[in-house]
Amino acid sequence: FRLNNNDLLTLKNLGSGNSGSVSKILHIPTQKTMAKKVIPIDSEAKIQTQIIRELRILHECRSPYIIEFYGAFINNNNTIVICMEYCNCGSLDKIVQLCPDGQFPLAILKKLAFSILSGLTYLYTTHKIIHRDIKPSNVLMTHKGEFKLCDFGVSRELNNSLAMADTFVGTSTYMSPERIQGLTYGVKSDVWSMGLMLIELASGKPVWSEDDGNPNTKSAGPEGILDLLQRIVNETPPSLTGKINPITKLNYDDNLCSFINSCLIKDDNARKSPWDLLGDPQGFLQGVSEGLYDKDVKVWAKGIRKLSKDK
Ligand code: ADP
Ligand code: MG
Repeated sequence: FRLNNNDLLTLKNLGSGNSGSVSKILHIPTQKTMAKKVIPIDSEAKIQTQIIRELRILHECRSPYIIEFYGAFINNNNTIVICMEYCNCGSLDKIVQLCPDGQFPLAILKKLAFSILSGLTYLYTTHKIIHRDIKPSNVLMTHKGEFKLCDFGVSRELNNSLAMADTFVGTSTYMSPERIQGLTYGVKSDVWSMGLMLIELASGKPVWSEDDGNPNTKSAGPEGILDLLQRIVNETPPSLTGKINPITKLNYDDNLCSFINSCLIKDDNARKSPWDLLGDPQGFLQGVSEGLYDKDVKVWAKGIRKLSKDK
């Protein structure tokens, strides 16, 4: 079916980021609930049409680890509207705020890492797509405990139009050292971002944020951001090895620590690719593909769903 603004009924606002805003909507003809992302764009009509054309590849992305795409169109010559699968537990940045101790349990982190790596592998091996924006708000969870990626960079023109907003807004960044230095940007840059995300979700504290406990961290603003980018390139990478979890008063899981360390190797040549990490049968991801944690994740997702409804 073709999507058209008159057929979409807005149900509620889900939030907004650097590039646009997202709402939960009902597609009236099919009675399907969807998420609608509206991106203001002031480029000329030719570029807008090009963006819509580039977004068409999303129709071909079919994976349990990727958000389903329903369509995109231009509205009033100044916004691009993207309609996608709605995930009823929301994104991980919201979910971590609902977690009892502000931390994700280990079993959930395993399933999550496995799902992200599977999604990245699918996008790259099947469509030659690199995600480019792995962060907690771009990973969504369903009530069944499935994790899915959204907001990946399929459109060169859209990326170009949004590039500035992307780089200089916000204080916390998931960008890899090689990306900051303008060297190569490959699928391993997404692995770096995932590593940072796992530290954040395991510890309950964003890395390189004002409350990360590091006295070197400066406040927001352009100066703070430039300083931060330098530190990502120059400092030893963040790690949970040897740290005490403030909630449990114990060290973090050994396998979790070494898995994160392998994602946060600064030299991207030495860092593993998503499929290399998935292919390691020992260690952190052991048993995940056999479904060892599926029940735990399902029960946990149900609890989160309930908490988010009560809120
Ligand atoms: P950002 O990802 O930077 O937070 P976005 O504009 O991409 O900004 O998204 C805004 C918010 O909308 C996200 O934080 C997320 O919680 C929510 N969201 C995005 N896509 C979906 C979706 N498909 N289903 C449910 N919630 C979504
Ligand atoms: Mg997003």
